[in-house]
Amino acid sequence: MKSHKFFYIGFTFLSGVFLISAAVIGHMLNSDNNSVFVSAQPEAMCVVIDAGHGGEDGGCVSADGVLEKDINLEVAKKVAELLNSMGYNTVMTRSEDNMLYDMYGDNYEGRKKTYDLKNRLKFTRENEADILVSIHMNKFPQSQYHGLQVYYSDNHADSAELAQSIQSFCRLYLQSDNQREVKKAGSNIFLLDRAEMPAVLVECGFLSNAEETEKLCDDEYRKKLSFMLSMAIVSYLES
Ligand SMILES: [Zn+2]
Repeated sequence: MKSHKFFYIGFTFLSGVFLISAAVIGHMLNSDNNSVFVSAQPEAMCVVIDAGHGGEDGGCVSADGVLEKDINLEVAKKVAELLNSMGYNTVMTRSEDNMLYDMYGDNYEGRKKTYDLKNRLKFTRENEADILVSIHMNKFPQSQYHGLQVYYSDNHADSAELAQSIQSFCRLYLQSDNQREVKKAGSNIFLLDRAEMPAVLVECGFLSNAEETEKLCDDEYRKKLSFMLSMAIVSYLES
C-alpha cells in the first residue's frame, strides 16, 4: 500500500515536471510569434512563501518545547526550493530566524509584531506576488486534534481555489483521514485580511498533539509535506 502510494506521488510529480517542461519548451518555441503552444510561462509568475513568526516571536510551542517558527522555516524553505527548481520565481519573506519589523527601517518601537506583519505584506506587494502562501503550525487546548488546515483570504476570488487545491492534495497524498474543510479567514489573520492577491495560510499540523509534533520534527515527513504543498500550488497555478 505504501509503495503504491509513493509510486502514485512519484508519478504525479513526474507528470507535473513533464507538463511544466512542456510549457517552458512551448514558451521557447513560441518566441517567433507563430503560436502553436499555450505557454504557462512559470518564470513570469511570482510566488511568495511566508514562514510565519521568527526571531523573538516563536509562535506556538509544543509541550516539549518545539517552536513553531523553526518548523515553519524548514517547511517554507523546502517548498520554495521545490517551486524554484520547477521554474517558478519564488521568494521567501524570511529565510533566517528573525522577525521582520526592521525590514524597511521603520520606527517600530514597541510595535514589533505590528511592523513584522506590515512588512511581510509590503514585501509581498513589492514583489508583485501572484500568490501568497503563509506557513504556520496550529495549537489547541485539547491535545487530540490533528491534521492540516487551510485558511483563505476573502479578498480575491481565487484564494478559495488555491486553498482547496492544498486541502485536497493533503487528503490524497499525505493524510487520508483528514476530513477538514478549507476555512475563510477572519480579520484576525492580518496577511489574509489585507492581501489583494490569492492568499492562503496553511496550518500544517498541531503542536498541541504529541504524535503530529513528532512527525513535524522529522525531516522525511517534512519533505513529503513540502512536496505535497508545492504540487498543490503548481496544480493551482497551472489550472
Ligand atoms: Zn503561527
